[in-house]
Amino acid sequence: MNRYEPVTDDVLTVLKAVREDHFPDLQGAEFLCVFDTKKKVTKGKLELASISAVDEMKKFLTMDDAMNGEGYDYIVRIDKLAWHYATGENKVRLLRHELRHTRVESENLKPWKLRGHTIEDFQSEIRLNADNVQWAMDLATVTLAAHEQNEGSDS
Ligand SMILES: [Zn+2]
Repeated sequence: MNRYEPVTDDVLTVLKAVREDHFPDLQGAEFLCVFDTKKKVTKGKLELASISAVDEMKKFLTMDDAMNGEGYDYIVRIDKLAWHYATGENKVRLLRHELRHTRVESENLKPWKLRGHTIEDFQSEIRLNADNVQWAMDLATVTLAAHEQNEGSDS
């Protein structure tokens, strides 16, 4: 069985709202969201979600699936268990953070780029999440415990 699964409709609903509210520049970019049923740990930290820009080969391979007929521009990988345990507000925070990683070069023929962050979160996100700065850490703790329980029941 493939570790990735199609997302539930609520992911697309939240993504749409987040794009409309915060990322007008991304109009025209095609997003593919996938659930990851396995945990992804980077430098000892659970990645609740991650985003990647689609290279030309992947874009070509997804040509028939994307609405624009040209293929996807970004892939958003979401930890399926994290999404399950996230509150409605956390779901918004999660996707909004991932979309902050996008960088649009509107003059470029291939405008859909990415950027990193040197601190845990982006300045604008820190302000928006000021009422609950711990949200990602708390969600990671719950999600990691759920992963460990699942792994235990697999064997
Ligand atoms: Zn990030």
